[in-house]
Amino acid sequence: MRSSQFRFYGQLNDFLPSELRQRTVCYRYSGSPGLRDAIQAQGVPHTEVDLVLVDGVARCFDFNLQGGEQVSVYPRFKAFELQAGRLGPKPLAVHRFILDVHLGKLCRQLRLLGFDTAYGNDFEDRHIIDRSLAERRIILTRDLGILKQARVQYGYFVRATAPNRQIGEVLQAFELKERCRPLSRCIKCNGEVERVAKSRVESRLPDGTRRSYELFYQCRACGQIYWRGAHYARLMEKLARLQLFP
Ligand SMILES: [Zn+2]
Repeated sequence: MRSSQFRFYGQLNDFLPSELRQRTVCYRYSGSPGLRDAIQAQGVPHTEVDLVLVDGVARCFDFNLQGGEQVSVYPRFKAFELQAGRLGPKPLAVHRFILDVHLGKLCRQLRLLGFDTAYGNDFEDRHIIDRSLAERRIILTRDLGILKQARVQYGYFVRATAPNRQIGEVLQAFELKERCRPLSRCIKCNGEVERVAKSRVESRLPDGTRRSYELFYQCRACGQIYWRGAHYARLMEKLARLQLFP
């Protein structure tokens, strides 16, 4: 049996059992595992890792441990642009998402805020990963199994279990506050939504809505009509309380 000393930094500690957080831990193994396997075996998906130093030298995920090393594992840095040794893909200029089957509410809220979000309650892991790679979509999931697959490049583990805390977490994690464009995406089909004259949709509106609202929006793809109703107002209030919406 060989061993190496591991220290996980920052939010990577979220994935460790509480007694192993914020300290150096001894990881035992046989053979000479690659860094990716050694890190994931301790619970941390590789998609959350951006830099690994082995005895002070930046190494890639394929580096093999021999025993006796000091390994420091870092998450993505937000505060400054670290160049040398980064393992994660370059940050994306446009944030598009694909969600696992359990995140239906988060999907609706992301779309309401204008983010291109792919979701289906029948999406299988393989489909999610294929589409993430083909369309450069960030996988949002509470399933570590998906994120641990080596071919996943863009992925984020949603920590919050309560659906009404997840939207705030995601906006914060990707610094999306300034990128929200409410009512520009269809909540039902993810199509693009545009302003439409009231006269064009009037006949399809409930009476109360026709009397109370003047501004309407319509999905180009499926025709769904939107207005700034109670549901919209509640989400905006919540985000304002969290200081996540300008
Ligand atoms: Zn639509």
